[in-house]
Amino acid sequence: MKVRTRFAPSPTGVLHAGGVRTALFSWLYARHHGGAFVLRIEDTDIERSSKESADAICDGLAWLGLDWDEGPFYQSSRVARYAEVIARLLDEDKAYHCYCTRDELDALRREQIAKGLKPRYDGRCREGRAPRAGVDPVVRFKNPQQGAVVFHDHVHGDIETANGELDDLVIARADGAPTYNLTVVVDDADMGITHVIRGDDHLSNTPRQINIFRALGAAPPDYAHVPLILDQQGARLSKRTGAPGVLQYREQGYLPEALLNCLVRLGWAHGDQEVFSLDEMVRHFDLGGLNASAAAFDPAKLDWLNGHYLAQTPAAALANDLAARLRLLGCDPAQGPALEEAAEAMKSRHPTLQAMAQGMVFLYKDEIAYDDAAARKHATDDARSYLRCLLAALETVEQWRGEVLKQTLSAVLKDLNIPMGKLGKPLRYALTAGAPSPDISSVMEWLGRERCLARIRGLMESAP
Ligand code: GLU
Repeated sequence: MKVRTRFAPSPTGVLHAGGVRTALFSWLYARHHGGAFVLRIEDTDIERSSKESADAICDGLAWLGLDWDEGPFYQSSRVARYAEVIARLLDEDKAYHCYCTRDELDALRREQIAKGLKPRYDGRCREGRAPRAGVDPVVRFKNPQQGAVVFHDHVHGDIETANGELDDLVIARADGAPTYNLTVVVDDADMGITHVIRGDDHLSNTPRQINIFRALGAAPPDYAHVPLILDQQGARLSKRTGAPGVLQYREQGYLPEALLNCLVRLGWAHGDQEVFSLDEMVRHFDLGGLNASAAAFDPAKLDWLNGHYLAQTPAAALANDLAARLRLLGCDPAQGPALEEAAEAMKSRHPTLQAMAQGMVFLYKDEIAYDDAAARKHATDDARSYLRCLLAALETVEQWRGEVLKQTLSAVLKDLNIPMGKLGKPLRYALTAGAPSPDISSVMEWLGRERCLARIRGLMESAP
């Protein structure tokens, strides 16, 4: 049997790390087995769904490289199919019209609570009830009343739920709109989904969904309900609590491979390996490696992984992205060192592309801003006198090249008989305003004569 998985987001907000992780696991499982990965947008909740959110989800998945083989299928364009299934269930006496009013249901609920019972629909319309004038009925699924639903979950093991626990679920609202548990089953059945991998907040829906599969004469898929992702405070990561969306990670300069690597380890392990290329993830991913305890998203680990992948990426592949970021920061990437060369030296010094671009601004702008306290710390009387000597020596340099500048610097240190730090520290601050930077002679060459001399003077004058 060919493996078919799906990712079925509701487009009601950004695609946060939890959603990406669900998509990743489903994608990996399909790719590992040479199967198909289906993208389905669950947008039947018209009030809360938006086209922008659906588009952003697709863009985010595409950016991450989680390519889908089929879809995106929009549930909103399948309403006729859901109506057909609801009609069939009614016809086969597997569903019924319920005319209970809100007041009646509220009263029932109060009564049950007063008796210490779990509030649930008591099936009063199940055996047929005359239509009530002025009440548009909902449609309820006739959940079996005997026996139990038993299934094996790849994360949580065997799960058994007595049918007596499950009340008759609304599958179509009074306006005819189908509900989640109906649409998800119709789609998973129609789309031939073999494995459903999703958050374990859906675990309690599963027995109900399995009963609907059976009523439709379809075999339920395999299930793997993965634990939720928590934030650093231990709260559930969710779009409602403002967890960043995948496109924000792109904006902040994270690489897809770092984000995916960080997420694959939340709820899944392969021995104690931490760093996985995408190929390795595909090769090793299996449902047996999933575990049931909630995992916390660690931004420091993401930074570490991103730094790791940034350092590995050829500078040529980063240059366009950096150029765009530098422009947004008010720089002209042509007014400074060749971007690729600078990127090569900088890529192992920053956790993200955005931090890297910010850290490169000093190379592409004439003016840089010193921090008052830091400038005071660096431009001591001694430092200023050393810088004055260096300035005099640099003014005579004819060929503004790294090697020559290095020799000039050595000669000045020798003349002054001081160690490198005494001059190097104020000089580096003067040139970079504290941005992480490679060896100082390269920085001087990159900046060029004018910017270099102006900055050394600038620091000397900035001090009180
Ligand atoms: N649309 C549901 C959600 O975003 C997912 C449904 C499912 O995976 O079965 O939570």
